[in-house]
Parts: sequence; C-alpha cells; structure tokens
Amino acid sequence: MRNIFLIFSVLALSFSATAQQVKPKNIIVFIADGGGYNQMMCTDYYLYGKYPASPLSKFPVQLSMSTYNGSLVRYGATCYDSRAFWTNFNYAMAGFTESAASGTALGTGVKTHNDQIGLDLNGQPISNLVQVARAKGKKTGLVTTVPFSHATPAGFGAHTLTRRDMTIIARQMLFSGELDVLAGAGNPWFDNAGNRIQKGVFKSIDSVSYQYLLHNRTSQWFFTESRDEIQKIATGASSPKKFFYLAPVAQTLSQMRPDSSVAPFDIPINSSLSTLAEMSIAAVNVLDNDTSGFFLMVEGGAIDWANHENELPRLIEEYAGFYNAIDSVIEFLAKTGQLNQTLIVVTSDHECGYLWGPELDGNKFTEPVNNGKGKMPSAVYYSDNHSNALIPFFAMGPSSEIFYSYADETDSARGAYLTNSEVAQSVKMLWGNTAYVFEADPLNNESPVLSIALPCQQAKVQWYANGKAIEGETNMQFLVRTIVYSPETQFKCEVTCGSTIFVSPNYSYRYE
Ligand SMILES: [Zn+2]
Repeated sequence: MRNIFLIFSVLALSFSATAQQVKPKNIIVFIADGGGYNQMMCTDYYLYGKYPASPLSKFPVQLSMSTYNGSLVRYGATCYDSRAFWTNFNYAMAGFTESAASGTALGTGVKTHNDQIGLDLNGQPISNLVQVARAKGKKTGLVTTVPFSHATPAGFGAHTLTRRDMTIIARQMLFSGELDVLAGAGNPWFDNAGNRIQKGVFKSIDSVSYQYLLHNRTSQWFFTESRDEIQKIATGASSPKKFFYLAPVAQTLSQMRPDSSVAPFDIPINSSLSTLAEMSIAAVNVLDNDTSGFFLMVEGGAIDWANHENELPRLIEEYAGFYNAIDSVIEFLAKTGQLNQTLIVVTSDHECGYLWGPELDGNKFTEPVNNGKGKMPSAVYYSDNHSNALIPFFAMGPSSEIFYSYADETDSARGAYLTNSEVAQSVKMLWGNTAYVFEADPLNNESPVLSIALPCQQAKVQWYANGKAIEGETNMQFLVRTIVYSPETQFKCEVTCGSTIFVSPNYSYRYE
C-alpha cells in the first residue's frame, strides 16, 4: 500500500512538472566524437590554464552519460559498472561502443549493436530525430568535421545494416527530402591536404549522386564546395532554402592535414576550408528562416580521429574548434533572440584513447597535469581505441531539466548519469514520437522499396496509398509496383504500438 501511494505521488509530481515545461522550439545536439573528461581537461588547461573553464562550464545542467551497447556483438559492452570501472583499470577497454551504435542510440533512442545505423537489435528501422522534427514540420540539419556520411551523423539521418555503406547513407541523407542542411568533409576529388586529385575516390558519396548534385545544383540542394559561400550564408548575404557543403578535402577539415604537430595550431590550417563554427552558424541561419523551428546536430567528428592517433596537440585543436562552434552558435542565437527557445545538448558518443594523467605511485587513475596556459598538459593515452568510460553531458535552455529525471544512476566519481539512448527518448517526449516512411535508396526510381522507421520496437504496420489501406501490405517494407502506382501516389504507413497509433507523413517515391 505504501508503495502504491508512493507511485501515485511520483506520478502527480511528474505530471505537474510536465505541465510547467516550456517545450523547445529548436533543439541543437553537439557531439564531441570520442571526447571524454580528460580530453576536455587537457583542452581547458591548454586554452585557459585551468579546468573547467570552457563555454560548457557555464551550462546549468551538468551530468554524466554511459555509452554501452544493446548487445555484445563486435566488441560491444552491455552495461557500465561503476565499481568495476574504478577498481580495474582495464575494465573499460574490454568492450565498448562505436559511433554507429552510439549515434543510433543518440539519434533514435534505441541501443543496438556495433556497426549498425538507425536499426534496433532486430534490424528494424527506428525513427530518428531528423524524422521526428520533420514530422513536426521543422527544418533539419547535420554538420560535421569528418565525412558527412560518417557513422555519427548517419545515426541521426539514415538506416543501414552497416556504417560501411557510406554511399547508401549519403543517398538517404541527400535524396530522402528529410534534410535542409548537410555539411562536412568526404569530397571525392581532394586529398587530406585539400589538394585536387586526378582520380576521384568515391567512398563517402558515389559518382552518380555526385554528378546528380552537380547537374541539379539549384533544383533541390544549393550544392557548394566554397568556403566563401558558407561565410555568405553565415552572415546572411546569401540565403538558400537548403544547402549541402561538401568541403574540398578528403577525410577531415584539419585533423588529417600533413605533418604531425608538437603543439596545437603549429602547422597552418587550410584556409580554403570552412570551420565547424562557420558551418554551424550557416546552418542555423538557414534553418531558422522557418517559423516552425528546427533540429540540428553538430559533430566535432575528428576529436575521435585525433584520439585514435594519440595526437594530443590535434585533439586540443579539434576540441577548441568544437568549443568555438558552441560559443558561436550560442552568441548567434542570443543576438537573434532565439536562445530562450532553443534546447542545447552537448555530449559525446564515447570516450576514445583512454586518456589519463601520468602514473603516480602505481596508480593509473590520475588526472592530466596542468602545465599552464599555452603549454601542453601532461597526459597519457592508454589505448588507440574507444573505452566504456562515462562521458560528460551538458544541457541548457527550455526543458533542459528533463535530463535530471533520466539521470537515475550514480557513479562514485562522476555523480548522476543518464545513458546515451535517453537523449533521443527525451526529445521524443518533448516533440512527440513518429513513424516515418523512407527509401533505402531514394535514387532508385525503377523499383522503389519503401520502408517504415518505427516509433516503437514491437509494432503492427499497415501501408496506405492515397488514403486507402492496401490489402495485405503489413510488412516493414513495401515494394512499389510502378505500373500500379504513379509517382504522384501519396503513401503513408499506420503503425500501432500497444494502444497508440502513429500515422507517418505522406511520401511519394520519385525524387526530383
Ligand atoms: Zn572512433
């Protein structure tokens, strides 16, 4: 009886909290790929001479987050054990997530196994935050410092069996009609120094898609490879409805540029490439032209790459660029009167490099040592891969207190923590969940196959054409017979989750 009374009072409390909650018009999720506590500490020591001192230190909501998978497949981990972590130095290196699984958790609210994009453990597509925003009539964008079709952005904007299907991920991002802004590296015609090459390397985007963009420059996307254009969009001198910036560089905006660094910024950064801050401002400046609001994901993707290489100077460069993007976006939102309508989340997808301070009296759990502003801190990389360590989580803006209710576990050192799938779960609570029709290959107009991204994992499905239920079409996929259904046909899907029915927005298969 006492327990029942307790449950009722908790319910009453949470309902009154919900009633007072102001729902954010806009949501921006910043992700430091591979960024952990000690990476931030090193960056702050170098940039400011103390920790914490970055723009994040002023965020009102500061929690911790676990990143483990939904299964042990491919090196995964299925829990974070605080006691095991702090008593066994090697625990966190024994099994860990990667950007596909963690991007999927962050982007859809469902934990999955390593390598998989936007699918649950049974391989079923789960609706992502881009689709949730789209279903609400909001604008959407994905921005990164690594190839635009890499695993983290893919978790928010695609559904594929493996992260290695980058050209398919690119097609879903570019031709599904779900995105208004896309920006990053992965240009087939340039090397890592930003020099033009003779033979294109079509890894992040296939040549058919690339040619399509070149020849249909204005009809769908404003496609640009020019930093000048991004700067114009950022200042408002140019305002396309949608833009795709494919930076003229192979893998990263700056982390993979030639030569190795002994100090941050010692090797000049290619000035013909846009920065993460510029791309982010340009993104917000385009997305906010619509009064319905927007969802934007900004990834400091090369933070992970610097950690894999155990390159502390370039890690600090990448984190500085990430801080700068956050700072610039906050300043822009404040200047344009949008800050109090925007929920901002800053977190990571996993730690990488297992970075600690120098070993002291046989103890490896030590913090990096501050050597003063502008001086490299003393720190040790114990791995060239990811770890299962908790990572930092920050939030500000309307409804940011929602994350406290998810942070129901406690780490002996880091305090209260939530888990990565709860970020998208929170957004789905605030904006509403959705079913969403998409095509695995939207450029395939010959035999289009429609798929349904589900709002829940156990669902019943019914396909509709022009408002009429199609008899017998109750599978997750629907092969469109083009002799029966013209390109104008409006398809939708009704998805039943328990007692709740979700109806997807309409979808027509011909991309033009
Ligand atoms: Zn990685």
